[in-house]
Amino acid sequence: MKIQDHFRNSIKKAQEENKKIVLAGCVPQAQPRQDYLKGLSIIGVQQIDRVVEVVEETIKGHSVRLLGQKKDNGRRLGGARLDLPKIRKNPLIEIISINTGCLNACTYCKTKHARGNLASYPIDELVDRAKQSFQEGVCEIWLTSEDTGAYGRDIGTNLPTLLWKLVEVIPEGAMLRLGMTNPPYILEHLEEMAKILNHPRVYAFLHIPVQPASDSVLMEMKREYCVADFKRVVDFLKEKVPGITIATDIICGFPGETDQDFQETVKLVEEYKFPSLFINQFYPRPGTPAAKMEQVPAQVKKQRTKDLSRVFHSYSPYNHKIGERQQVLVTEESFDSKFYVAHNRFYEQVLVPKNPAFMGKMVEVDICESGKHFMKGQPVSDAKVYTPSISKPLAKGEVSGLTKDFRNGLGSSGSHTSAASQCDSASSRMVLPMPRLHQDCALRMSVGLALLALLFAFFVKVYN
Ligand code: SF4
Repeated sequence: MKIQDHFRNSIKKAQEENKKIVLAGCVPQAQPRQDYLKGLSIIGVQQIDRVVEVVEETIKGHSVRLLGQKKDNGRRLGGARLDLPKIRKNPLIEIISINTGCLNACTYCKTKHARGNLASYPIDELVDRAKQSFQEGVCEIWLTSEDTGAYGRDIGTNLPTLLWKLVEVIPEGAMLRLGMTNPPYILEHLEEMAKILNHPRVYAFLHIPVQPASDSVLMEMKREYCVADFKRVVDFLKEKVPGITIATDIICGFPGETDQDFQETVKLVEEYKFPSLFINQFYPRPGTPAAKMEQVPAQVKKQRTKDLSRVFHSYSPYNHKIGERQQVLVTEESFDSKFYVAHNRFYEQVLVPKNPAFMGKMVEVDICESGKHFMKGQPVSDAKVYTPSISKPLAKGEVSGLTKDFRNGLGSSGSHTSAASQCDSASSRMVLPMPRLHQDCALRMSVGLALLALLFAFFVKVYN
């Protein structure tokens, strides 16, 4: 089922149940005039901090649409303020979007319609957010963006400059994971990137989508790089950052992709044996240039996707690691609830026994088993378990980023009781307008933001 169908069905269901509806994320932002969105409130991707107003007006029966862009002296801003309160899905992991939008215009992309051109957050705001997260007990930071490699080009800085500033504030044992970068802009910073990815507090991991390994298809996609560029980035980093994990994305069956083109992609996967590979069968997004191109027959797309998946499953990336001793950072529970999930220095997944003492800590393990997507680690008997975070983490569901006064106010009202003291230094630094808001309103805002953040993450993942 297509994402629009899911979206439409959810709206229909809510309408049948007489629920008030506020839509958020890339889908309504990109096509607010769709028939099925008529009369509904929409909050744009850069207006998430105004969720309270939109919800209140919608409850009163009004339809509100805030789809504008945030600007400062004519310059487009990254989006909502970074210091807004929020609830982390995992209290140990802080996800920071370093910029919104990108510098490309890929012909299949709908995200660009919603997010527009590159708009980066200033370095000091990002560093402040990181510091605050560590003071709230976070032990892993993920930097995300449509294209992290393009970060800063609109504000006269660049990704390595940001990363060097960030590593200064990462406490020992906590880790930073860099998100997806397209090949073109990162090419300019390869030397510096290699140094940063060798830093002990940065995962030696990079997600670089190649899409197809065919220059003619890349040209049709307007991806602004060729296969040789991708290989240059990967080969350089593999040489300078021993053991680095390179994850990539591949789209199968883009318009104009011939059998020969597809075979080139297969060869690339066979050659690089990417341990992490996201294979997507091409689906034309309505309103994109690619949707107007002559399509590859559905059966062919399906077959190519299957063939590539078979190649991917033909190799085992972790077997040779059995017997290694590794340091891993434990951050969550596995889907089947049988293990804790940790990551080693290369952001490879290592399952460890469910010992509550390990959560949020660095643990030394011996790798004893491996599968296609994971390893299993046996904790070393005399190993030191140490906490990387400088504070106790917030409780699950607890609101991050509240001022001390506000947090105490919540405590006395009985809504939230814990951890006021954990965040004193962070709180005193915050310049939030929160005390001006009514507490209920602020709480709703926090919860709303958390829900919207989840919705965003879902749509960005599925829709792009
Ligand atoms: S696919 Fe990514 S890089 Fe290309 S236009 Fe869309 S958001 Fe930008």
